[in-house]
Amino acid sequence: MLTVNAYAATSATGPLTPTTIERRDLGPHDVLIDITFSGICHSDIHTARSEWGATNYPIVVGHEIAGVVREVGAEVTKFAAGDRVGVGCMVDSCRECDNCRKGLEQYCLNGNVGTYGAVDRDGRPTQGGYAQAIVVTEDFVLRIPDGLALDVAAPLLCAGITTYSPLRHWGVGPGSRVAVIGLGGLGHMAVKLAHAMGAEVTVLSQSLKKQEDGLRLGADHYYATGDEETFAKLADSFDVILNTVSAKIDLDAYLGLLAVDGTLVNVGAPEEPLSVRAFSLIPARRSFAGSMIGGIAETQEMLDFCAEHGLGAEIEVIRAEQINEAYERVLASDVRYRFVIDASTF
Ligand code: NAP
Ligand code: ZN
Ligand code: ZN
Repeated sequence: MLTVNAYAATSATGPLTPTTIERRDLGPHDVLIDITFSGICHSDIHTARSEWGATNYPIVVGHEIAGVVREVGAEVTKFAAGDRVGVGCMVDSCRECDNCRKGLEQYCLNGNVGTYGAVDRDGRPTQGGYAQAIVVTEDFVLRIPDGLALDVAAPLLCAGITTYSPLRHWGVGPGSRVAVIGLGGLGHMAVKLAHAMGAEVTVLSQSLKKQEDGLRLGADHYYATGDEETFAKLADSFDVILNTVSAKIDLDAYLGLLAVDGTLVNVGAPEEPLSVRAFSLIPARRSFAGSMIGGIAETQEMLDFCAEHGLGAEIEVIRAEQINEAYERVLASDVRYRFVIDASTF
């Protein structure tokens, strides 16, 4: 066993505090990774605060992990010491069900093994990336291309793939009219990726405070949803809308912005149920859909796409003792656009 420093949530209401956790001994297919940077995803906050149901405490969250391989198990073939690697939201799956066979490990019919808050295949609870090191089976480790710095790459492991996958699935490319609701961690990556795919991109943010940034990141248009006129002006005008908002919003208002056959894809995961009126969908054959992260092969494809297009996250690097303050800023929509923890400070 390897004992490493980490930060853990110990209750739904208290702050995250320093602790130590144990990582398993290297199995034949395992990779031991020294974590360099760990992104803060809003899902970490939902989980740390038991917003998606009761969390088992203490929990070390974090699933946007970038680092360097320290050591590999005897039968590992894909990685060697010194390789630059990443780990996202999953650390294993059954590998046998129809979905796993199709490369859709995130939809594993036996339940994918989450990077934190899950039970690993050896029966032990998984603990995430707010830590100095992690041990992961090689098939769930990603290669970070040379062109991408580890700090800006870390958020790609969740925010990047969660937005890349639906953009690809719903066929976004030149000629697509894409709107992104919420310019946070996921939203800013959605803007960069949709722009790089050739789409016409519109940001729908609560206010115009981040307009300059949005346009710089690749958006063609930027509207404030606090302004009622926005909804009249943009009616029936998008092929794909990606909702990245972490809170409940009035979906009916946004569905009205879809053109015929348009799809609103929900990736935001608020604790409250969302509601949709049938007549927001029926009159224009619109779809309301959801999407969860992406498969392992698709995550590698996304990382390679980002390297090719020179895309990384916009980040603010913090020390471990600033995590609780960073959480408050994320909750206040005051993040530009992802907090990344320097893992040498755990
Ligand atoms: P984030 O950085 O906090 O961004 C969310 C953005 O939503 C905010 O920056 C803000 O943008 C907007 N927003 C927040 N509260 C709002 C409100 N009350 N009304 C309207 N807009 C609001 O969060 P994130 O890390 O991108 O994650 C977003 C959501 O996606 C979370 O619920 C997270 O759990 C979920 N998620 C899902 C998946 C998946 O696989 N489906 C993966 C990762 C994360 P503006 O200031 O621009 O309005
Ligand atoms: Zn995440
Ligand atoms: Zn499976």
